[in-house]
Amino acid sequence: MKDSTTPTTRSEHLFARAQQVIPGGVNSPVRAFKAVGGTPRFIARAQGAYLWDADGNRLLDYVGSWGPMILGHNHPAVVEAIRAALEEGLSYGAPTEREVVLAEKVLQAYPGCDQIRFVSSGTEATMSALRLARGYTGRDLIVKFRGNYHGHADSLLVQAGSGLLTGSGGTARSAPSSAGVPEAFAELTLVADYNDPEGLKALFAQQGEQIAAVIFEPVVGNAGVIVPTNEFLEALHRLTQEYGALLIADEVMTGFRLAPGGAVELLGLKPDLVCWGKIIGGGLPVGAYGGRAEIMQQVAPLGPVYQAGTLSGNPVAMAAGIATLDTLLTQPPYAHLERYGQALQEGLAGIFRQAGIPTTINRVGSMITVFFREGPVSTYAQAVASDTQRFKQFFHGLLQNGVYWPPSQFEAAFFSAAHTQTELERTLEVVEQVVREL
Ligand code: PLP
Repeated sequence: MKDSTTPTTRSEHLFARAQQVIPGGVNSPVRAFKAVGGTPRFIARAQGAYLWDADGNRLLDYVGSWGPMILGHNHPAVVEAIRAALEEGLSYGAPTEREVVLAEKVLQAYPGCDQIRFVSSGTEATMSALRLARGYTGRDLIVKFRGNYHGHADSLLVQAGSGLLTGSGGTARSAPSSAGVPEAFAELTLVADYNDPEGLKALFAQQGEQIAAVIFEPVVGNAGVIVPTNEFLEALHRLTQEYGALLIADEVMTGFRLAPGGAVELLGLKPDLVCWGKIIGGGLPVGAYGGRAEIMQQVAPLGPVYQAGTLSGNPVAMAAGIATLDTLLTQPPYAHLERYGQALQEGLAGIFRQAGIPTTINRVGSMITVFFREGPVSTYAQAVASDTQRFKQFFHGLLQNGVYWPPSQFEAAFFSAAHTQTELERTLEVVEQVVREL
C-alpha cells in the first residue's frame, strides 16, 4: 500500500548541505522536524492535495503550507492570475489597482473593518497592529495568551506557541520565549491563560488602565487546535470595552479558512482590529491588518503611527490573493471542508477508540489536532500534557506511508478543497495501519 516512503537519500543529502549554509538547515524552525526527529523532506513540487519530495515520493499533504493552501496546491485560477501579473512586472513601489481590489474583497468579508493595510507576513501584521493599538490608546501594555502564537515580533515572543512549544527555538515556556528579546520588552507583554475569563478579569482589575490591547487567536491553532468558550469570548469583549483597550483578533490562520469572514463571522466577534495573512496571499507572502477608520487613520501617512514596506502590496502577491478569494467566493469549499473534517474526525476517533489509545480530537472546520491524551483539551496546560512520544510514532508512521502530518503535536493539521473521498479513505487506511503498530 505504500506509495511513498524510502528512499529519502536526496532529502538527506539536501538537509546536510542546507545545514552548512542555513541555521538548522531551514528558514523556519518547525520545518526542521526537531520535535519528531528524523530528516525533513525537501519538497520538489506540489499539486492539489499532494506534495512530491526531492526523491519523488508522493505525500498526502495535511500541512498546506501551514494554512494558505485552502484551495489545494497550484490551483489553476491562482496560477493563471500569477502568470498574468508576471507579464506586467514584479514590483513598482507605487500603488496599483490590485491592492484596491484585494482591500475591497477582504473588507467586504469583514463588515466591521473600514480600512486595511497590506504588509508581507503575518508577523508584520500583528507587529503593526500592536504599534497602532499603542499609538491609538497612548498605552504601553499588551495582553497575549499562553501558547498563542502571533509571529516573531519581540513583544509577542512571550510564552508563545508553535515552534516555541517544541524546542524548535528559544527557551520554551519562560518569559521571554526567545533569546534576544530584552526583559524590558517582555515586561510590557502580560500573559494570561486562554479560556480563563476570571484570570483575565483579575489582570484587568490590576492594570487595565495601562493596557493598550489584547491580542488573541480566535480559534487557537498554534498549541494544536483549541476552541474558545463563550464565557471567554464574552469576557474579552466586555473587559477590553470597559477599560478602553483594543481587541485584536489574529485571523492570520483562521481568516477565510473557517468561513469567508473567518472566526469573526463564525463566532460573531466584534474586534477593534483584525490581522490576516496566509490565505489572503494565496501562497505568496502577504499579511494585513485592518479595523475601523478612526483607528486605521492613525497610520502613516495620515497619522503618527509609522509603518511601511518596500514590497507591501506586491502586485504578483495581490493577484494570487484576489484569485484565491474570488475562488473561495464563487466555489465556496466550506461545506465540503466541514463534511471532510467531520468524517476525518469520526474516522480517526473510531480507530483510536478501537485500539484503546487515549486521544482527544479538536477540530473547527478544516483545522484539526489529535492530542494524545485523555480528557478535554480547552486550555494550554491540557494541550502540553499530551504524550509527545506517541505523537512522534504516529507522525513517522504516517510519513512512512505517504501522509504528511504537521511535525509537531502542537500544530493544527489543515486540509483543502482538493482533499476528496479518495484522500479521506487513504488517510484513514494509513492511520489504521499505523495505530496497529503504536
Ligand atoms: N499569527 C498566527 C495566528 C499565525 O499562525 C502565524 C503563523 O503561523 C502568524 C501570526 C505569523 O505569520 P507569518 O509566519 O506569516 O509571519
